[in-house]
Amino acid sequence: MSQFDVVVIGAGPGGYVAAIRAAELGFKTACIDAGLNKKGDGPALGGTCLNVGCIPSKALLQTSENYHAAQSEFAEHGIDVQVKGFDAKKMIERKDAIVSKLTNGIGFLFKKDKVESIFGKGSLVGQADGLWQIEVDANGNKQQVTAKHVIVATGSVPRPLPITEIDNINVLDNEGALNLEAVPTKLGMIGSGVIGLEMGSVWNRLGSEVTILEAMPTFLAAADQQVAKEAFKVFTKEQGLNIHLGVTVNEIVKAENSVTVKYTVGGEEKTESFDKLIIAIGRIPNTNGLNAEGVGLQKDERGFIVVDDECRTNLPNVWAIGDVVRGPMLAHKASAEGVAVAERIAGQKPFVDMNTIPAVMYTHPEIAWVGQTEEQLKAAGVKYKKGQSSFAANGRALGMGQAKGFVKILADAETDRVLGAHIIGPVASELIAEAVMAMDFKASSEDITRIVHAHPTLSEAMHEAASSIK
Ligand code: FAD
Repeated sequence: MSQFDVVVIGAGPGGYVAAIRAAELGFKTACIDAGLNKKGDGPALGGTCLNVGCIPSKALLQTSENYHAAQSEFAEHGIDVQVKGFDAKKMIERKDAIVSKLTNGIGFLFKKDKVESIFGKGSLVGQADGLWQIEVDANGNKQQVTAKHVIVATGSVPRPLPITEIDNINVLDNEGALNLEAVPTKLGMIGSGVIGLEMGSVWNRLGSEVTILEAMPTFLAAADQQVAKEAFKVFTKEQGLNIHLGVTVNEIVKAENSVTVKYTVGGEEKTESFDKLIIAIGRIPNTNGLNAEGVGLQKDERGFIVVDDECRTNLPNVWAIGDVVRGPMLAHKASAEGVAVAERIAGQKPFVDMNTIPAVMYTHPEIAWVGQTEEQLKAAGVKYKKGQSSFAANGRALGMGQAKGFVKILADAETDRVLGAHIIGPVASELIAEAVMAMDFKASSEDITRIVHAHPTLSEAMHEAASSIK
């Protein structure tokens, strides 16, 4: 039986990062993952994010943006191109190559740092003499390993919609949506969260007529509502996404080449047929096969493993990180927790500030935020002031042909400390890093105004927003 100092269950951005950090800190480390790679000769390293999430979705996003630009933006620059067609299969091959490059890279890092990579489903058996036994089941081939510390990083899975089943032929989850090899003429989407909007934008730009059905009456409820309103306007009026809010989906009927959805909106019954239907109604924590109940690992009523601020579970030396615990379901949050737990095991005192974890939506324009929204500040009775700057007046954004959206910065009315930043506009995903840094360093909005920003850059919008705070 192999004995380790640290065994990580799950090789997503939480687990693989935790394993590498633990190994760097001198621990004998193994990382177990149940997902099989495409070649079938080892675990699919990188979890949801690298294989069927962040990375493949951004690869498709780029293809769709290029296609759209070639069709409808190049002419304005005087570039005369004729787009002869679109090869979705090639787009998927390119995406797969990017995924392979990155997942192979994790394998390389595991080898370099001497992390033992084990394929199979890991389940907790019990603890004896200060060591945890973990059973690893590789398609019936079982082995046991032991470890002083266990880090559970088993991630999340798509939330099922009880009235239908995913077949990844016509009714798709994120995995199926990232592998379509032809552009559907009519694409239906249930859910207008980040995943739904990103996927909807991709296929819309590639030529699908996209209809998004959302149960909530409010669009992007988690975002600052000024940003959400602007986004709704751009997505529906300018880009032609059909977004229906306050929808109850009553029935989904599958046929050979289509899916029909019966739904109610505003008291009216509607029936619509699509070539493909994507279900993107959020994700749920995954503790499947972990034997959490058997060993008494505490979960909350929604199935998340209960942890304290430092990712300790109720069991000694069992830690949990990433999507399977509270907090935003984001890769960078999972990785930050992974590093922190490895360092805690080594006796260090790291800190992950949940208030400064940025959220990004890779739509076009992108949306990014960090900290509090105006709605949250109002609800908490916090007195704040705000500054705003539009990309319409930003020279770089105009040059890029992407002068849409704005930056909004919220600061404490008394202390001027930055409490939140909200961006809708070009490469908001990159711009938000400045606000994250400002908030992490407890900067005031005046601090941002005193930093010299290069000209002409998009980041000047951040400077302008801070400068306009009165
Ligand atoms: P996961 O990445 O889910 O990894 C968990 C791993 O554990 C899996 O490999 C699984 O096989 C393994 N596992 C589970 N149970 C066991 C077991 N019992 N034994 C062994 N192995 C097990 N986040 C972002 O920050 N940015 C984005 O742009 C972004 N885009 C996304 C797009 C899509 C379409 C989706 C679906 C998600 C996206 N996310 C994004 C979310 C991101 O993928 C997750 O937050 C992140 O992957 C969570 O990391 P994790 O390590 O906690 O879990």
